[in-house]
Amino acid sequence: MCGIVGYVGHRDASDVLVSALTRLEYRGYDSAGIAVFEDGVINVAKSKGKLKDLVEKMDKEGKPKGVAGIGHTRWATHGEPSDINSHPHSGARVTLVHNGIIENYKELKEFLIKDGRRFLSDTDTEVVAQLLDHYYNYISDPIKAIIRTTQDLRGSFALGIVFENYPDTVFAVRRESPLIIGVGKDENFIASDVPAIIKYTKDYYLLEHDEVAVLSADGVKVYDTHYQPVVKTLKTADWDVDAVGKCGYPHYMIKEINEQPTAIRNTVTPRVKDGMPNLEECNITPEALRKIRNIFIVACGTAMHSGMVGKYVMENIARTHVTVDIASEFRYRDPIIGKGDLIIIVSQSGETADSLAAMRLAKQKGAQTLAIVNAMGSTIAREADMLIYTHAGPEISVASTKAYMVQLAVMYLFAFELAFAKGTIDEEKYKYYTSKLLETPDMVQRTIESTTEIAQKISTQLITADSLLYIGRGLDYALSMEGSLKLKEISYIHSESYAAGELKHGTISLITQEMPVIAVATQSALYEKTVSNIKEVKARGAKVIMICKESDDVPGDVADCVLKVLDFEEILLPMLVCVPLQLIAYYTAVQRGNDVDQPRNLAKSVTVE
Ligand code: GLU
Repeated sequence: MCGIVGYVGHRDASDVLVSALTRLEYRGYDSAGIAVFEDGVINVAKSKGKLKDLVEKMDKEGKPKGVAGIGHTRWATHGEPSDINSHPHSGARVTLVHNGIIENYKELKEFLIKDGRRFLSDTDTEVVAQLLDHYYNYISDPIKAIIRTTQDLRGSFALGIVFENYPDTVFAVRRESPLIIGVGKDENFIASDVPAIIKYTKDYYLLEHDEVAVLSADGVKVYDTHYQPVVKTLKTADWDVDAVGKCGYPHYMIKEINEQPTAIRNTVTPRVKDGMPNLEECNITPEALRKIRNIFIVACGTAMHSGMVGKYVMENIARTHVTVDIASEFRYRDPIIGKGDLIIIVSQSGETADSLAAMRLAKQKGAQTLAIVNAMGSTIAREADMLIYTHAGPEISVASTKAYMVQLAVMYLFAFELAFAKGTIDEEKYKYYTSKLLETPDMVQRTIESTTEIAQKISTQLITADSLLYIGRGLDYALSMEGSLKLKEISYIHSESYAAGELKHGTISLITQEMPVIAVATQSALYEKTVSNIKEVKARGAKVIMICKESDDVPGDVADCVLKVLDFEEILLPMLVCVPLQLIAYYTAVQRGNDVDQPRNLAKSVTVE
């Protein structure tokens, strides 16, 4: 999920690899490493921490010297950030670096252990190294061995590979994770992204899924899965180096919105076996779930809003009582919790101070704790009894989008598992919901494509507003909370989310022609009720933007503007509807000329109370 580089040429490979990795630092990472051929032998240097820690280590212990090698910055997904888990990883004669997630690493590892292999790290990557070495032992052609290995792999990968008896040659292959081949004069490169190598060359090839590249100083060869040579078209980068840090997107936020389908796929598919969620690896068993009395979802900001959706879903299908709590309130109010209660802590960084304190308090009181965390090896992840990692990859924009999306995905996985364990849904329904969740990456992709233009138009109508209301009922209300927060944090326009039925108990007095209302109405059972509430605000002059399903027939006088999302399983609609809400906030902030990725007064990881 972070950075890969590789080099073959005439320069000092260690220096080139470190300098190229520096250009990928913007992606966020927790460890770094390189492998360089030194007199025909592969020499590895790696370290937890930043590139400067790796450089310090090499200054002390000696830097691998040679003209060819591979390098990596890691964002841990399997195994905490540590020296041992850092890349490169090796089988006996193969050393490689990997970006991505191998979904079936567990079964492959079991097979390799039975075959007599031993593992040093907890990573899914070492499984690839050992598997490749296994095939290389009896296929002996590195390209064939790579092709054979990738046939066994499920998931996403970009791999930079070196083979002991092929000195000064770098091999590469990819599926889903990005990888380009940089073409220079008497030197060639691999990299996750063009900025890594732009200092050396602007010419590059795009490597397609499952193509294998072989790089030496004097050339690049590319093969397809049948070992047939592929003729590649040379491309030339003409971008400004800083812009390409965002892969051509103007801001990280919009890049991360577009990464959501991949983030969901990485989070959900490894947790589904035989069409059903399987969370045993997260230490969550059906027996433990059956014992849960009450659930408290405790978090801050956006993470808390994912908990609001979780509450509606869990109560609805698992018939379990769920309270959502703001961590900074929960920790100081002497909450009534104890044995039999489950406290779910949700945090992107895994270091949020209030959420961590709330989790420690819950443990003290004898409750079970489950962490839903994006950053591997973070404090909340380490201290929780049960743990589900979201695999959003590093999120750089302060306003969370893809991390929220995968928190939702995990809420669903957990709710389905809980409901099935408690017997409130049968196996057919359990499998049906799971199959629908597996469809969400494609549906989210289609939603991005189908709602961008209208979200842009809507934002033009919002830029002059001083204040906004988001209204909805049920799941739509839970979602409105996040839509409203997103807008205010980056556009600096005041906004509130309100349960649509509650408006007339006070807040409706704020409605004027100057106050736009974004009404979310996607849930059939509540649709008519929400439409009545929309009419109430419309009658008082509000400009209404309505978000509903494609199949909803909205009479012309209900709303000034209607944004429709694709029809889909209703309980999962929040994963689709949050997309236009993110886009509206994003384009409004852009048009107001704000610093979208680093909004004023805010920090990404809130480690203070
Ligand atoms: N899944 C691999 C690991 O945890 C690679 C992570 C990455 O893309 O940096 O080591």
